[in-house]
Amino acid sequence: MVQLPIYLDYNSTTPCDPRVVEAMLPYFTKHFGNAASRTHAFGWEGEEAVEYAREQVAQLIGAEPKEIVFSSGATEAANLALKGVFEAYAAKGNHIITVVTEHKAVLDSCHHIERLGGEITWLPVDNEGLISLPELEAAIRPTTMLIAVMYANNEIGVIQPIKAISDIARKHGVLFFTDATQAVGKVPIDVNKDGIDLLALSAHKFYGPKGIGALYVRRRDPRVRLVAQMDGGGHERGMRSGTLNVPGIVGMGKAAELCRQEMTADARHTAELRDRLETGLLAIPGAHINGSTTHRLPHTTNISFPDIDANALLAALGKDIALSSGSACTSASMEPSYVLKALGVDDKVAHASLRLGLGRWTTAEEIDYAIVRISETVALLQARNVQYKNV
Ligand SMILES: *Cc1c(COP(=O)(O)O)cnc(C)c1O
Repeated sequence: MVQLPIYLDYNSTTPCDPRVVEAMLPYFTKHFGNAASRTHAFGWEGEEAVEYAREQVAQLIGAEPKEIVFSSGATEAANLALKGVFEAYAAKGNHIITVVTEHKAVLDSCHHIERLGGEITWLPVDNEGLISLPELEAAIRPTTMLIAVMYANNEIGVIQPIKAISDIARKHGVLFFTDATQAVGKVPIDVNKDGIDLLALSAHKFYGPKGIGALYVRRRDPRVRLVAQMDGGGHERGMRSGTLNVPGIVGMGKAAELCRQEMTADARHTAELRDRLETGLLAIPGAHINGSTTHRLPHTTNISFPDIDANALLAALGKDIALSSGSACTSASMEPSYVLKALGVDDKVAHASLRLGLGRWTTAEEIDYAIVRISETVALLQARNVQYKNV
């Protein structure tokens, strides 16, 4: 018998791996020193732990340890990348190219930059969720300072053609930032092979703790400059002031090491179960997958069901299966997902969509239960709708 509720919302956050928690614990009590304290052993221990974690994180993405700037998460890292480049390269221009399906952390940072006098090009996506490379290249101007395209989308899992994007950026001497929050630890990333200049990541999406993340900032070919968005003691080589979250950093380092070792097995496990889930749910008449099924993360799927209301579906499932609709819940009203709308999915169908995220501890039993439960519920709601229509 499966234990309820089942967690299928790994894209919103993941549980900490117990091995991560174990690594963190001593840094709350015994080794509690401030990593910036240079005058005693408590500080040195903290610093040593931070530098070790910096290597672990760097290794996961093929970076140098010095290129890792710790932050409170991917939201802060994206803010630093976008606003930091906008300020540092003001002499070059004021134009940034991004995509309509980005996470709010990127979209809203770009809106902020617009209010500061920046110009933003918002690239559309096709019905698979992918950008057009010719359209990207055509959008580049002499004043373009940055291209910001996410590695993989959090709602549909679609992976953008990162290497091709960076080739275009290089050719035109434009920096390339990618929000890789959903991809880090799930698929192999190498900032040098991929040609990435700045990259945001967050520990709680790859079995680490919440409230800790990092920005990768390239130091060679080219050396990227940033204006700090947090002023203070000059931590993180002046790019992000504030006392370092030592336990969080240790946890993120351990989580990164585990992902590096177990990524292949994790990906095989989640992809197999994701495919099983899709096969089961696509048996529902009219059900279909949103976004590319060839360029995507191994652990994510987004499925629409015809003629049902997502509110009713989520309400009916919520007690037993933790998931989210493709929709972003805005306080009172349920807005259809802007990501699905960007793919050309109509509002009604966007409303009737589920985002399913699997993870390291998802089991076949849970997937089989979810298939039955979702299928039953969709059938019930569809029958009810048909009944209403006939009245
Ligand atoms: C979760 C997520 C973020 C935000 O990360 P936090 O560390 O929670 O701030 C940004 N971008 C993407 C794609 C995400 O999935």
